[in-house]
Amino acid sequence: MSEKIELIGLSKKELESYLASLGEKNFRAKQLWQWLYYQGAKSFAEMSNLSKSLRSKLEESCTITRPKIITEQISSDKTHKWLLEFSDGERIETVYIPEEDRGAVCISTQVGCAMGCKFCHTGSQKITRNLTAGEIVSQFMIARDVYKEWPSPKDETRHLSNVVVMGMGEPLQNLENVVKALNILTDGEGISISKRRITLSTSGIVPNIIPLIKETGVKLAISLHAPNNEKRSQIMPINKKYPIEEILQTCHDYQQLDGSHFVTFEYLMLKDFNDSLADAQELVQLMKKYKINAKFNLIAFNPWPGCDYEPSSRNKIIAFSQELQKNRYAAPIRVARGQDILAACGQLKSKKQENK
Ligand code: SAH
Ligand code: SF4
Repeated sequence: MSEKIELIGLSKKELESYLASLGEKNFRAKQLWQWLYYQGAKSFAEMSNLSKSLRSKLEESCTITRPKIITEQISSDKTHKWLLEFSDGERIETVYIPEEDRGAVCISTQVGCAMGCKFCHTGSQKITRNLTAGEIVSQFMIARDVYKEWPSPKDETRHLSNVVVMGMGEPLQNLENVVKALNILTDGEGISISKRRITLSTSGIVPNIIPLIKETGVKLAISLHAPNNEKRSQIMPINKKYPIEEILQTCHDYQQLDGSHFVTFEYLMLKDFNDSLADAQELVQLMKKYKINAKFNLIAFNPWPGCDYEPSSRNKIIAFSQELQKNRYAAPIRVARGQDILAACGQLKSKKQENK
């Protein structure tokens, strides 16, 4: 028997042509799509507006798979973390970060990461493989299952309102699957997360930035973490391939595509490394030189055993933030969420790994 087709992760076009191959009309593909992504159906049996014969055909040749939940933890601040396992036994983590009136699901795109950033626990784990589009989308679907938010809510009262692509892996090293997954998440007849509520963070894979934006329209965040190449290359080896000037030129071009867009720069505050006022001033000069509408997220560093860096002091972070604000750049300080369960993005899977 030939292998069954996994439906989660097929694009709408692929689903249409698959159903056409079964002799079904396009509107059947639309109905099936709505069952999968609007209703969150997990079985063909519940798809009541499809004929019995189509349901049994689908049953025979297709699957609707969710990853397996291995462990689930909720931290004291309500951050919710799942360790998920795919059919080949590989594991990743997905985190839900609730805010007062909304919440973001932080999803992973690779098992491990090849970028090897010195401050990142995922980066110390090497890369095993890319996730498929279905594996990326199904992380969000698991969160929807757990929070019982099917059928896809259209109003703004939903818990799972935002998506951040900031889990394990470098998303722009897995562009094709990430684009496909984001287009499923934003589809208005399905999961329906607005593209303006999705933020993708990258360490700066320059040639893939504009294609990502053109194909998805999601918001861009750059993990900058240093104000010059000398420092950035020390903590982010990828900077030798795609240095700051190339990243910022691309951010400038991105803003030309749509002048209203801000670029968010994530900036990890590392003690005595990148946290001085001179560093902040250097950042300001960079943004001016490349005419960028920048926002900064100053991130408190989450240390892990064996890491060479330490978090900056609270006072240093505040002074750094004020320096940026003096120059009219927003620079909120991000508290690490879910610290008691090591849930900060970039810290994912670490605890389990140590246990092994
Ligand atoms: N690979 C992408 C997205 C995943 S990392 C990227 O690097 O942008 C998501 C964010 O977590 C990045 O900004 C990353 O720099 C940050 N991060 C990594 N390790 C961290 C740590 N130990 N403490 C706090 N943030 C960390
Ligand atoms: Fe990979 Fe991002 Fe971690 Fe760097 S910070 S190693 S790019 S996951």
